[in-house]
Amino acid sequence: MKLYNTINRRVEEFVPLKQGVATMYCCGPTVYSYPHIGNLRTYLNEDFLRRTLMRAGYDVQHVMNITDVGHLTSDEDTGEDKMLKAAEQEKMDVLALARKYEDSFFYQSQALNILRPTKVCRATEHVQDMIEFVQKLQEKGLAYVSGGNVYFDTVQFGHYGELSHKDIDGLQHGARVEEDANKRNPTDFVLWFTSSKFENQILQWDSPWGRGYPGWHIECSVMSSKYLGEYIDIHCGGVDHVAVHHENERAQSEGCFGHKWVNYWVHNEFLQLKDIKMSKSLGNILTVDSLKEKGYHPLAYRYLAMTAHYRSLLQFTFDALDAAQKSFDNLTARVVEIKKDLSGVVDEEAKKRLLEKFDKAIFNDVAMPQALAVMWEVVKDGSLNSATKWAILSEMDSVLGFSMDEMQEKSYEIDSELQALLDERKKARQEKNWAKSDEIRDTLKAKGWAVKDLPDGTAQLIKV
Ligand code: AMP
Ligand code: ZN
Repeated sequence: MKLYNTINRRVEEFVPLKQGVATMYCCGPTVYSYPHIGNLRTYLNEDFLRRTLMRAGYDVQHVMNITDVGHLTSDEDTGEDKMLKAAEQEKMDVLALARKYEDSFFYQSQALNILRPTKVCRATEHVQDMIEFVQKLQEKGLAYVSGGNVYFDTVQFGHYGELSHKDIDGLQHGARVEEDANKRNPTDFVLWFTSSKFENQILQWDSPWGRGYPGWHIECSVMSSKYLGEYIDIHCGGVDHVAVHHENERAQSEGCFGHKWVNYWVHNEFLQLKDIKMSKSLGNILTVDSLKEKGYHPLAYRYLAMTAHYRSLLQFTFDALDAAQKSFDNLTARVVEIKKDLSGVVDEEAKKRLLEKFDKAIFNDVAMPQALAVMWEVVKDGSLNSATKWAILSEMDSVLGFSMDEMQEKSYEIDSELQALLDERKKARQEKNWAKSDEIRDTLKAKGWAVKDLPDGTAQLIKV
């Protein structure tokens, strides 16, 4: 199996530290808001990787953190704490808010068939471990106290910038105006904030440096080593994490352990939502739930994510999602047809050949678009009987994650009450009475139906 390794900028053969086991640490969500479909693209890609490793026979140990403290509005040490800001806006207790969005994250992940990590750990439940980690860094001369806060000394570490290939000398000696005068070097970052930085911080803990709270990056070094040990096979996250968050995690971990920490750094490109304005205050951030309300199946979004390689930008448009929904519906219909008669004899030679082709794609840096193409080759192959197709597809589905075994014919009837509501809504829309149209949409939603307006002016009901 081959994987692209950010630190070496090349595709490399995956060699695990321990035979038969793959350890994987993925930076989890900051639970201050609903996860949007961009965040979820990253978690979908991590799911494709995890399932690929499982197909390759590895026992995957997958750890993910939940950031419920310390992540500031900039990924560096400036701005407000995202959690506290949201708690204030929503007038909610900060931990209650964290649990609300954590639940939403897992609910939406589940709808996308993303496997739950084998271990999920919350930052606020590991603060003592973080304090001990920072103490070790201090003992090693890699951390210093300044202005009441504790900072990591990136120059002392000596290998800072290697992951993102940053020109650290340029950064150190550049004429950049540094916002935090307490730092010895511009790239240094906070390990522990005391209340001297944020006076009204609600989440605070006692520490050897005074009452305060941890910086954002330390949690990942601490929780990954607590649950996976000091050596990790794979570390994942979105590309935005390379330059700051992962560079800092690496400096902390390698500084503390005194050796290489991660063998493969895997980074997911963004879902671009350029032309779609999302704003939490307007209540229009694109989540899996909002796609469902618009009449899309969550797995249509999973399908869409699979059409682009994880290292390519994916531009989100509703046209692209419509196309993915159409392909997913088509797949559902074909799979239902295939499952109707499985009485034939499985062509073992064809099964082996096509699964090898599929594996070649996924084992080559998780090439999901090619894997999807092989899936369609099987679905459409007129020379294969249904038993053979199903034998192949059900194996592929362990990686694709479309729940093919649960795919069923859509067998619902629109009763007269629903039809009356649809007719009423159509009339309201013709009269441009949008308030009435929205009201009927809500009534239908309460009854478990989403309405999808089709280009020809008709509407379709979708069970949600
Ligand atoms: P956060 O909750 O902000 O810490 O982000 C959670 C994950 O989503 C991180 O791995 C980010 O890199 C990733 N992420 C954020 N925005 C996007 C996006 N538009 N497309 C893909 N991944 C993203
Ligand atoms: Zn992290």
